[in-house]
Amino acid sequence: MSELESLADLQDLDTKLDQLAHRRETMSERAAVLELEGEASALGAKIKTISDERHVLERDQRRLEDEVAVIEDKKATDVERMFSMTSPKELSAMQDELASLGRRQEVLEDQVLELMEQIEPLSETLSGHEERQGKIADETGRLEAAIVVAEAEIDAEVASISSQRETHLPTVREDLVARYDKLRSRGRGGVVVGRVVEGHCSACGLQFSSVFIDELKHSNRSELLQCDECGVLLVP
Ligand SMILES: [Zn+2]
Repeated sequence: MSELESLADLQDLDTKLDQLAHRRETMSERAAVLELEGEASALGAKIKTISDERHVLERDQRRLEDEVAVIEDKKATDVERMFSMTSPKELSAMQDELASLGRRQEVLEDQVLELMEQIEPLSETLSGHEERQGKIADETGRLEAAIVVAEAEIDAEVASISSQRETHLPTVREDLVARYDKLRSRGRGGVVVGRVVEGHCSACGLQFSSVFIDELKHSNRSELLQCDECGVLLVP
């Protein structure tokens, strides 16, 4: 293997590592989890608003029901007292009071019904939202588990290629590695070494002139030529 070939092989290994890092970073499950988290948070805000609204209505309902209970107690006491009354005037006054309490109770009970009618759709909406929240939590859990599995697979592949790289690195001439590293650090990784494949640059596809290819073949190999188009170091 020529020195330049082994530099191109180093690039191949690094390209694989770059691709694995990219795949690890951009796996579709991550975007899906983010989207679900956004939906869960919007849903949480809606649930809070509706719960607050329902809480106010339920408090009103309880207050009215308490008032009805007081009236019922009062009616029971009044009825009790009527048994010991003998004066027709007193009895008649008591009947009036009972009738008045009955009317008040009806008004309150109507109001309770109205509140219950307002509460019911809120409860339905809430349980729908909560059901969706549960599904989101399940789906998020499933995706996160899939991410863990995919990460482990990628990491195993990275470990294997890294160890190949470690074995391979000493076979590349030191000054070439230095130049390679410098170019890679400038571009934050990426492809900096290309091959000439059927007269084309393997990195960008530029077709080289036959003069250039001749020059490349006869260059003394200590000075690497670069692709005019994309700047990669060329291995003939
Ligand atoms: Zn090129």
